[in-house]
Amino acid sequence: MARYIDAVCRVCRRNGLKLFLKGDRCFTPKCGVERRSSPPGQTSTRRRKQSDRGLQLREKQKGRYYYGLMERPFQKVFGEAMRRPGKTGEMLVQLLECRLDNVVLLMGFADSHAQARQIVRHGHLVLNDQKVNVPSIQVKAGDTVCWREPSKKSELCKAVAEKIKSKTIPAWLNVDPEKMCGKVISLPARTDTESRFDENAVVAYYSR
Ligand code: SF4
Repeated sequence: MARYIDAVCRVCRRNGLKLFLKGDRCFTPKCGVERRSSPPGQTSTRRRKQSDRGLQLREKQKGRYYYGLMERPFQKVFGEAMRRPGKTGEMLVQLLECRLDNVVLLMGFADSHAQARQIVRHGHLVLNDQKVNVPSIQVKAGDTVCWREPSKKSELCKAVAEKIKSKTIPAWLNVDPEKMCGKVISLPARTDTESRFDENAVVAYYSR
C-alpha cells in the first residue's frame, strides 16, 4: 500500500495546524508547529493569496492527512458519504470517525492513527469477539473493540493501559481500562466530533 514517507511535521506546518501525526511528541514543546509555524521550504513567512479551489484542496488535504488516508481511499469514503441519506459533509465526517483505526485511537488504545492502524493490522484486537485486522472497517453502535487475551500480556498493551487513564474519551465511546475493552455507545453526531477540516469545502472540491 502506498504511504506518505516524508517528515510528517512538514505536513502540519504546510497546513498551518497540528494534525497529531506523531503521538506523544505532538503534546510536547518539541512539536514542529510549536517550534516553527511557518510553511516548510519557505524563507519568507508571507503566504500568497489562495484561490477558492486552492483553499478547498487544502481542506481536503487536511482531512486526508489527519485520518492518514491516501487519495483513493479518501475518495472512496467520500463516494460512500454521497450515497447515504443526509448531508454529505456530515456523513463524510461520521464515516471517517467510525473507521476502526480512528475508533482505536479515540479509545486511547494508540497514540496516533499510524500506531492504531498497526495495532489493528497485527491482529491485537477483536471486534465483537471476532479477530480483526482491517483498519477501514466501519464500527456500528453497540460494537465492542477489545484487546485479545494473548495481546494483553504484551509490553505494548501494558504501556497503552498506563496512558489510557490520562486520556479524554469522546462521549460516544466508552472504555473499561481494566478489561482493555471499549464500546461504541452511539454513532457520533457532527457536534460530538472535533472539527479537523471544513467538510463543506471538501464537498465543494469533489463536486466540481
Ligand atoms: Fe504535527 Fe505532531 Fe509534528 Fe506537531 S509533533 S507538527 S502535531 S506531527
